[in-house]
Amino acid sequence: MAQPLAREVVEEIAKQYGVCIRPVPLRRQDILTGQVEVIDVPCGATLESKCPPCAKRNRQLRRAQCREGWHLEAEPVNLPDNADEYQRHLVELRADAQAWRDEVEKAGGDTTDLDAAIEDLDEEINRAGMRGNVLGRASGKRSRSTKRRQDAPDLPKRQMTKTTLGRTFTGADGKTYRPSMFVTLTLPSYGRVLEGAPPDPDRCDYVRAARDALHFSKLVDRFVQNLRRVAGYDVQYFATVEPQKRLAPHLHMAIRGTLPRAELRQIIAATYHQVWWPSTDVVRFEGKHLPVWEDGAGYLDPTTGEVLPTWEQALDALDQDDEAEPLHVLRFGDQLDIQSVLAGTPDADQLIQYLSKYLTKSLGDALGTDDPRRKAHAERLLEALRFEPCSPTCPNWLRYGVQPKGAKPGMAPGRCRGKAHKPDHLGYAGRRVLVSRKWSNKTLTEHKQDRRTWVLEALGLPDEPVDPHRYIWRPVKPGDPDLAPIGVRLLRSVHERQRWRNHLARLEAEADGQDLMTNNELPVWRLGTGSRQQVSTPKIWTPSPIERPCPSLVAG
Ligand SMILES: [Zn+2]
Ligand SMILES: [Zn+2]
Repeated sequence: MAQPLAREVVEEIAKQYGVCIRPVPLRRQDILTGQVEVIDVPCGATLESKCPPCAKRNRQLRRAQCREGWHLEAEPVNLPDNADEYQRHLVELRADAQAWRDEVEKAGGDTTDLDAAIEDLDEEINRAGMRGNVLGRASGKRSRSTKRRQDAPDLPKRQMTKTTLGRTFTGADGKTYRPSMFVTLTLPSYGRVLEGAPPDPDRCDYVRAARDALHFSKLVDRFVQNLRRVAGYDVQYFATVEPQKRLAPHLHMAIRGTLPRAELRQIIAATYHQVWWPSTDVVRFEGKHLPVWEDGAGYLDPTTGEVLPTWEQALDALDQDDEAEPLHVLRFGDQLDIQSVLAGTPDADQLIQYLSKYLTKSLGDALGTDDPRRKAHAERLLEALRFEPCSPTCPNWLRYGVQPKGAKPGMAPGRCRGKAHKPDHLGYAGRRVLVSRKWSNKTLTEHKQDRRTWVLEALGLPDEPVDPHRYIWRPVKPGDPDLAPIGVRLLRSVHERQRWRNHLARLEAEADGQDLMTNNELPVWRLGTGSRQQVSTPKIWTPSPIERPCPSLVAG
């Protein structure tokens, strides 16, 4: 069926129909009927995914989520969601993947792919609306000695009220206004950059750039803490982390409610984060001179046989050392942009478009450019990241004479598989969309559910909850005889989508006819080339795609 068509052609068709081009095949067994089917689940795709239809759908959902919460007029009610079928399925899959991984490891095989798959699954599970770690591991927070505790910066502090809503103001006309804010935060300069590359690379501080990117999300957390303390209410935000041309991550944040501009500037200037990790000043092991693993003991100095300090021991030593300095201190740069926004204005809508505009680009997209100067710039940053520890479990700690947390055989500095070291991430391995818990009444999963319900209603199908225990899901391995070639599977999905569309078009044509006969004033919906367009209600304002460039992108 798919033989005459090249894979690319089929993918193009699939994209036009909004069909996932990297579906995950799963074998579903219905325990009531005994029926077994192979079902393609959309890859679900992270925002920067290489699957454009899924990434686009995610972006639309994110916009809806952002709009929903920005100017909320009543406190959101957050009820714990029951794990739905999809979530349960993910958890089961996660358990299977872990079991395979452990088997492969026991047999001495390469676990790279499985590790990556497990990481993706964990992310997807969190995205699906569950909080915390599936394995239920306690976070094991250390109680740091008091002198290490970061002081709250010297900032005004208001009495905390329980509300998450911003203040409203009544204008002279008696109208109520609900102002909010849109803030862009950047990291400091690491040296002069022109058109995305430094004219003098030797004067560019790549180590600092690398560390700032690695710990950027912590700095954002600090900012939110400080913001709440000063604002005196439970400030909610929807933020996206995006790449700057100079390759540093930066942040756009929609904030519910408003603060005086001067105070916000004060908070940004006072916010800092200290990284209390062991020192990396001295390289103890490199090249062929590397620590060796001994079962039962851990990593040893290859010359003296001395056991290297474990991660916990290294942190304890750090705690007891009065002279110790933090490994790194982060602050925001002075390039910042603060805008006030009113609910329901064109500005608010443009900014929402803008927030999600770059989400499908990865932080390291500049690597793919043809400009040799920018390419070299990215490669120097990658080189700085190569031996920089990305987390307590990073094998790079061995280079500095510390056993990584959870040390195991086969670790070597410079060979960390963590995302942060990869060209696509350039140090920032955190989430690209940060949404506070009480942003809106809906989680992303619920927004997805809304769309599903809409389609099912339009099709006249019942949206009945499915008993989550009815199906047993199993992964399908490549080469499984039941698995049709990808081209065939994509075409099937396209066909299915076509069927839906035709059905919807028929329903709408019927509705059109009725509406037009009974009341000409009613809005008429018409299905065009796949997008819903409202054609007859008078438009108050038409959102146009925002082309205003990001201030820091221009400057950076
Ligand atoms: Zn996909
Ligand atoms: Zn690492």
